[in-house]
Amino acid sequence: MKKICFFDTKPYDKTYFDMYKEAFDFEIDYFEPKLNADTAIMARGYEAVVAFVNDTIDAKTIDILYEGGVRLIAMRCAGYNNVDFKAAFGKVHVVRVPAYSPYAVAEHAMALLLTLNRKIHRAYNRTREHNFSLNGLTGFDLHGKTMGVIGTGKIGRIFIDICKGFGMEILAYDLYPQTESGLHYVSLQELCERSDVISLHCPLTKETWHMINKNTLQLMKKGVFLINTSRGALINSEDLFHAIKEEQVGGAVLDVYEEETEFFYEDLSGEIIKDDILSGLISMPNVIVTSHQAFLTKEALSNIAEITFENLKEYFKGTGLANEICYRCTKFGNCDKTDKNRC
Ligand code: NAD
Repeated sequence: MKKICFFDTKPYDKTYFDMYKEAFDFEIDYFEPKLNADTAIMARGYEAVVAFVNDTIDAKTIDILYEGGVRLIAMRCAGYNNVDFKAAFGKVHVVRVPAYSPYAVAEHAMALLLTLNRKIHRAYNRTREHNFSLNGLTGFDLHGKTMGVIGTGKIGRIFIDICKGFGMEILAYDLYPQTESGLHYVSLQELCERSDVISLHCPLTKETWHMINKNTLQLMKKGVFLINTSRGALINSEDLFHAIKEEQVGGAVLDVYEEETEFFYEDLSGEIIKDDILSGLISMPNVIVTSHQAFLTKEALSNIAEITFENLKEYFKGTGLANEICYRCTKFGNCDKTDKNRC
């Protein structure tokens, strides 16, 4: 039987992977710690590891995995910015789940926006305290407002459809515009200048790192709302924090945070959060932080489990890896092996 171990496993991961494992001939061990250079030794004797978004798969981690016999890293997620592909090249294959439910993420983005705009988070707390006052709960109609969408891939396009359902005008920006889509593509600068709400749906790459910073924030309309369900480091969090304090930004909903690895997915109730920017953001009434949960639907977890096992099966059968991330393409941050000019 082929031996596989999982890192950063939570109860809900186990539930869904256990549901599908019977159909596959694998011996599985679930580890709770995140994968990094300190924990990689735990994978000694396994041929494949299954990793997640906040594992640190740098050169040191990869060397330890490789020396221990690991030849495949199966990411049970779509993003792969936490993998050093240069270090992995020629040693371990890396596969991922390119799409498991873009609806899950797009719907969460809209849920966050509606919560923030209509102040549901505050209303919920008020009525539980029998405070039925409406003071300070005024929102605005989304209908007729302009949504700027950065990244018009799988999630971005579904999010656009949802926004169109609300009667919003859409402006789009993408490094690779889909000209046949009928979307109104503009430059990043124009998108920043004209949008009432901006939602990020592009991957984290060298080019997109801190694309939202004090310069781009200054271009935006005063009071703009920001949505980030992609990757934390797309935004310079300190710049965002100051822009909210100065009321340049009217509100932000963040499912991801650039320093989330230390905090997200853990129950730290009662502990002091030693990240002043994260603490500051959480304390603001016009900021909502969720703990990288946009993917967390039954459908997404089922698809993640099934596709990850299929990826592992392909590797062990030696039939080729449909969902391998190609080292040459990682610089584009978007390898789905369908674009012949790029893959
Ligand atoms: P996708 O590959 O289908 O689409 C990404 C789009 O971004 C593509 O159209 C691509 O051309 C564009 N892009 C790449 N570089 C760009 C740049 N420099 N500027 C502008 N656009 C650029 O990916 P997807 O499935 O839509 O996922 C988008 C992102 O969502 C992922 O990269 C991941 O980081 C994030 N994600 C988050 C969660 C969550 O739970 N919060 C879950 C899944 C995915």
